[in-house]
Amino acid sequence: METTSTPTHCPYCALQCGMNITPLPQGGVEVTERPDFPVNRGALCGKGRTAAEVLSPGVRLTAPLVREGGRLVETGWGRALDRIAERLGATRERYGPDALGVFGGGGLTNEKAYALGKFARVVLGTSQIDYNGRFCMSSAAAAGTRAFGLDRGLPFPLADIPRTGCVILVGSNLAETMPPSLRFFTELRENGGTLIVVDPRRTRTAEQADLHLAPRPGTDLALALGLLHLVVAEGRTDEEYVRERTTGWEEARAAAMAHWPEYVERITGVPVPLLREAVRLFCEPEAAMVLTARGPEQQSKGTDTVSAWINLCLATGRPGRPLSGYGCLTGQGNGQGGREHGQKADQLPGYRRLDDPRARRHVAGVWGVDPDSLPGPGRSAYELLDALGSDVRALLLMGSNPVVSAPRAAHVEERLRSLDFLAVADVVLSETAELADVVLPVSQWAEETGTTTSLEGRVLLRRRAVAPPPGVRSDLDVLHGLAGRLGVEKGFPADPEEVFEELRRATAGGPADYSGITYRRLAEENGVFWPCPEEPAAGESGSTPAAGRAHPGTPRLFLDRFATPDGRARFVPVAHRAAAEEPDDEYPLLLTTGRVVAQYQSGAQTRRVAELNAAAPGPFVELHPRLAARLGAADGDPVAVVSRRGRAVAPARITGAIRPDTVFMPFHWPGEGRANTLTNPALDPTSRMPEFKTCAVRVEVLGPARPSARRTGRAGGA
Ligand code: SF4
Repeated sequence: METTSTPTHCPYCALQCGMNITPLPQGGVEVTERPDFPVNRGALCGKGRTAAEVLSPGVRLTAPLVREGGRLVETGWGRALDRIAERLGATRERYGPDALGVFGGGGLTNEKAYALGKFARVVLGTSQIDYNGRFCMSSAAAAGTRAFGLDRGLPFPLADIPRTGCVILVGSNLAETMPPSLRFFTELRENGGTLIVVDPRRTRTAEQADLHLAPRPGTDLALALGLLHLVVAEGRTDEEYVRERTTGWEEARAAAMAHWPEYVERITGVPVPLLREAVRLFCEPEAAMVLTARGPEQQSKGTDTVSAWINLCLATGRPGRPLSGYGCLTGQGNGQGGREHGQKADQLPGYRRLDDPRARRHVAGVWGVDPDSLPGPGRSAYELLDALGSDVRALLLMGSNPVVSAPRAAHVEERLRSLDFLAVADVVLSETAELADVVLPVSQWAEETGTTTSLEGRVLLRRRAVAPPPGVRSDLDVLHGLAGRLGVEKGFPADPEEVFEELRRATAGGPADYSGITYRRLAEENGVFWPCPEEPAAGESGSTPAAGRAHPGTPRLFLDRFATPDGRARFVPVAHRAAAEEPDDEYPLLLTTGRVVAQYQSGAQTRRVAELNAAAPGPFVELHPRLAARLGAADGDPVAVVSRRGRAVAPARITGAIRPDTVFMPFHWPGEGRANTLTNPALDPTSRMPEFKTCAVRVEVLGPARPSARRTGRAGGA
């Protein structure tokens, strides 16, 4: 057994906090501070601090399961893999390769995401692969790509935040989702900078702000347009920057000028004086940033909403200048890397496009296959889930729990049940794994080596600190075993470094170029920012480059030019439009969903940690006191929230921190309190992101709470 302390990173969110793992003599491991990692400098939130509990055999799967007579029973690895290969092969034989679906996750390492995309296209020959990161930041990725020619969540390190002049934080409650990052914003204010938070709720993050704008859910697009209108009207446009570094300004300007401040106030509910104050705070400093997160992104107009915020940044000359610009706060642990290496329906490794003939040739060359054999782009995540049981008959799912996390979740659950065959690889028996025909128990963060890419675009090495329990194998081992059984003997190594070496070659020359990054560098340098091309060694110009020579990586993007063909950033003209579903007589309120500090995403891991469960044992429905009075609801009363898609029941939590026209539910729980039973799968036309952040609902009070259910604590977070 390994006994020394191993530096590694948290399994949960995209901050990827550094931590040390130390095996204990009596068994189990201890998570301790790792001050040398500059992002969290030793600080961990409760999720990271307790992450080792999920390593315990008591809470996780330790043997493969197969369904026999309607029940999942333990079996051996050989039989489980044989069953999956046989059913995938038979389905392909009968219905063709696109009857096979693959669903990945934003928590998978770069190596796993890469191998999963290759497995789908080379072994199964299917186009039907996508992943749950589509639900997370795809709108920001689409908007960033169309403005800058490249999507990297943050084009600058978090360490720049304390030294800028103003940050507008749009739809992020990072005080709850990634608490150690709040330090950067505290330091910003200590240094004299200002923080503006845009959120329909007065969250713990909003409480830290100099200015809180609380728009009606689904109106952030109009808000950004109103701010841009004022920038122009007040003569605050950076004309020289716009002329020299951008294209498309006239059209974007004209679109913004149609959004008068008074009109924007009517749409958003944000008073004009607050709009003017936001513009003043944002424009007066030499440097400023806009950071978006799920609030503006998880909308049926999420891409246009992010474009509106990018337009505001471009008009004021921010992107590509020191301590300035636009960034997206990616959510999932490997949300950034997970969208770069081929598990997305339209992508090949290195952030290459699957419909680009040159990209297909390059990657096919690395994979040793005919480019014409690679399928084209497939369905997006929700569309893939919606096609289960009809066009898609069998599904292999890794590292995702859509029964809890997908929109219109009851329908998605019903689609999963209608499959001919479902195989799930996961650490725990998630609600989705419970539906499977075969469940594979896989190893996790501290038990395996692999890379992730944080929200900063910093590629990191997670190191194996402990051995997994007997009976558990890695996802890479699973793909290796299945590929062999399906007739592809080579190209799917179980060793992560071997996979990474191939990934380096596959990404070489692509937008997300990792070719100059090696495991050795990652271990020595505390991470490397992409792009990091492999450079020829000194004196070797024109010769084959030596592995891992010294390109320093790219902490800051766009300082000289943007990644567009002409090097200029592109304004995109956008206009306000309503949400896919607006309130009416039957459903008079808006529902918005989000997170609490003690749970992570679908809760599959964190709901199994006693301390976290005690802190956040179940869902709740936030109601404004005026709404609660009108409904006759008291704190703790069970209420039903009803949308066109279903009904969820949870205790009322009455708080003045929410708008009277809006109710809030966190989405981490299954069962009758599942918030995603209610959410609307209306898709953004560009990113195919579902509209998690707003839908029309009504609230029904089900009766008084039992005395013991009454709440005494404060309202929770987003
Ligand atoms: Fe882990 Fe995110 Fe918490 Fe850091 S903030 S400890 S990465 S969950």
